[in-house]
Amino acid sequence: MERSLPAATPSASAAPADAVGGSRIGFENVSVTYGSLTVLQSLTLTVNPGEIVALIGPSGSGKTTALRAVAGFVRPSSGRIMIGDRDVTNLAPYDRKIGMVVQNYALFPHMRVEENVAFGLRAHGASEAVVRARVPECLAMVGMGAYAKRYPRELSGGQQQRIAIARALANKPQVLLLDEPLSALDAQIRRSMLDELAKLHRDLPALTVLYVTHDQTEALTLANHIGIMRDGRLKAFGGAQSLFRNPPNRFAAEFLGRAN
Ligand code: ADP
Repeated sequence: MERSLPAATPSASAAPADAVGGSRIGFENVSVTYGSLTVLQSLTLTVNPGEIVALIGPSGSGKTTALRAVAGFVRPSSGRIMIGDRDVTNLAPYDRKIGMVVQNYALFPHMRVEENVAFGLRAHGASEAVVRARVPECLAMVGMGAYAKRYPRELSGGQQQRIAIARALANKPQVLLLDEPLSALDAQIRRSMLDELAKLHRDLPALTVLYVTHDQTEALTLANHIGIMRDGRLKAFGGAQSLFRNPPNRFAAEFLGRAN
């Protein structure tokens, strides 16, 4: 069944100031070049507050570049990136109020789980009182409250990825960027993590998520809308189920395995 969007899209100001999420992500004619290679061509795309948009497409089509442009690790050669009403195109990653999770968790191996989650909070100047309150909250959000004192090496891949998500949420980001977050996990854990992510989004309905994956099942399970990329261009965009049922062009049909 198709997941429906909220009837009235909440505006950024409708969410409490310190809530997780609540902001739109806007790509406005964003292009990215590496030398003479254009890897993102005039991408225009909006992720509404509280929505999950999945970007899918073949390897090398520009999905990760798009996500990294929102994070601030890639600078567009033209166009603007908006988070809520802020033009963040020229802001450092640190100033963008984003949370990000990548494929290989990237936890600090020498730090306990609680220290991993606390790290970003302290880096942003949070007091010890805030750290003490927020870390258990974030671990509870991902069902890992009992693992605070463990080291990453003592956790499974799925558990490590949950910690990475808890860490990404610690600073109450306006948007969450997920880059192939389940790709390194085996199939069974991936399925249960998909359920976990869906639950997380039910618990944090204001959370705005851009989700990069090559996996159609993940996109169909989680996303409200799906964008299909090819050669740095957005070739198709639509409601997750309707795009699958009625691909708007031959490339989308072929990519989704729907071509006759
Ligand atoms: P996807 O996520 O869809 O697999 P990417 O965004 O990672 O695609 O890559 C898009 C294109 O940009 C690819 O051709 C890739 O080789 C190229 N690319 C990505 N990062 C760099 C970089 N730092 N320098 C040069 N080319 C890059």
